[in-house]
Amino acid sequence: MKTQFIRDSFAIMSKLALQSKLPTVGTTIFSVMSALAAEHDAVNLGQGFPDFECSPKLVNAVTEAMRQGHNQYPPMAGIPALREQVAAKLLALYGRQYSATSEISITAGATQAILTTILAVVHNADEVIVLEPCYDSYGPNIELAGGATVRVPLTPGTFRPDFQKISAAITAKTRAIIINSPHNPSGTVWTAEDMQALEKILLPTSIILISDEVYEHMVFDQQLHQSASRFAGLAERAFVVSSFGKTYHVTGWKVGYVAAPAELTHEFRKVHQFNVFTVNTPVQHALAAYMADPQPYLSLSDFYQQKRDFFRAGLAQSRFKLLPCEGSYFQCVDTSAINDFSEAEFCRWLTTEVGVAAIPLSAFYTAGFDQQVIRFCFAKKTETLEKALIRLCQL
Ligand code: PMP
Ligand code: GLN
Repeated sequence: MKTQFIRDSFAIMSKLALQSKLPTVGTTIFSVMSALAAEHDAVNLGQGFPDFECSPKLVNAVTEAMRQGHNQYPPMAGIPALREQVAAKLLALYGRQYSATSEISITAGATQAILTTILAVVHNADEVIVLEPCYDSYGPNIELAGGATVRVPLTPGTFRPDFQKISAAITAKTRAIIINSPHNPSGTVWTAEDMQALEKILLPTSIILISDEVYEHMVFDQQLHQSASRFAGLAERAFVVSSFGKTYHVTGWKVGYVAAPAELTHEFRKVHQFNVFTVNTPVQHALAAYMADPQPYLSLSDFYQQKRDFFRAGLAQSRFKLLPCEGSYFQCVDTSAINDFSEAEFCRWLTTEVGVAAIPLSAFYTAGFDQQVIRFCFAKKTETLEKALIRLCQL
């Protein structure tokens, strides 16, 4: 009797045996390296997040919003005041008028904005072009939607887009392309000419553009951020995604937005309402109040450029070879003068033996391409960067 019961239980378990939807996916490299850094008390320049506080004004504004009773569900697409602030910013900076009512949606960070966009537009067997190296959520997101990821490499060494390769990757099944400037992990920034080249390629097609612009306010050396919203032929087909987490030093708040023409936003919201439905109410009120002053985001490039320059000047005294950094809060370095470890081995060794955590670039390639380049995040206090530099310069 008992044996029969056990046998039946196994039968049921094997009947329910889960078939993974993401069989090749493990835990993201960012969680892995942060855990390793904590375990070994290493300076964490791996996962991208600031180690300094956001403005107290912003924290007070959240408390104030809670006190005022903004604690229940907000409207599905986000509170109107925040959508209006986003629309005003997009108009002021990039010259495009988005309707706060029908073209801007507030999301649980850029991660959810991207997943929801992909789920809304990608059908079974549709192809989506990504430019590798790229942020690690894109591929699994496409897979979850039933799509096929078509990987086009950015030019090795410079990480600039290769428009011939992009053109050649387009087929009748191409549904979307994802771009990201300023770029994680390489720190390259697309020029107006790059955006125009993409615009020309996409013009005769019905391909949707997903433009991941989470580092839009971190562009250095007087360059301008070339948002897809600046270019008519791109904006008409684009979901423009950004993240308040990056802009206001609050990555843990997980709030972002997506701007897209009404027809696209309509489809986006169909999925969004059954995905998260709505996003944290008091934080939205606080962001709306804080965003009325453009100074914090307008001064962000200068703020991070100083950190970049400080970190680069320090690294110039080391055996790491610096790659260019035009935007974002990431600095890539070549490690080949130090040893011949693979990127993953190097990062593990650097964390456990040297006491500085970094991210291997291979983590941004599905097939794990190794070029002896690793990524540091310099969104850190000066003393944190100093501590890391002392260790890095000893190598
Ligand atoms: N895209 C890129 C390129 C990123 O670097 C990040 C930050 N991790 C995201 C999207 C996700 O942003 P969020 O934290 O707002 O979800
Ligand atoms: N965007 C950040 C990075 O690239 C971290 C995001 C995450 O932890 N998923 O490091």
